[in-house]
Amino acid sequence: MSDCIFCQIASGKIPSKKVYEDEYLFAFRDINPVAPEHVLVIPKRHIASLDHLEEADEALAGKILLGIKKVANQLGLEESGYRVVNNIGENAGQAVFHIHFHLLGGRPFGWPPG
Ligand code: 5GP
Ligand code: ZN
Repeated sequence: MSDCIFCQIASGKIPSKKVYEDEYLFAFRDINPVAPEHVLVIPKRHIASLDHLEEADEALAGKILLGIKKVANQLGLEESGYRVVNNIGENAGQAVFHIHFHLLGGRPFGWPPG
């Protein structure tokens, strides 16, 4: 999707602070971090949200989860712990409609979330 900002970040057309990349995934620092470590993990292929995942995306969904763990370990967050957030649609406040997982670390997080 040529007008999608995260597609353009994943392809390098828009610069970002990359922390991880493989054949399927791209991870980069959030432009407006809400924690000492705040990384967005996305599939390179455009999928609007988790609600748009299909059965055929089963393998990709697994790669995303394992990729999040890989990035968390790369950032040294496995001992302190971290939070993964995926916003879907209006009530969750999804602002960018290219599926992305917030990987948040470096401080404690409250529960329930706001
Ligand atoms: P959402 O509310 O959709 O779950 O989160 C979107 C996130 O994308 C926000 O945390 C926002 O700061 C981040 N974001 C939006 N535009 C850009 C951008 O151009 N570059 C980067 N690195 N992050 C962005
Ligand atoms: Zn996209």
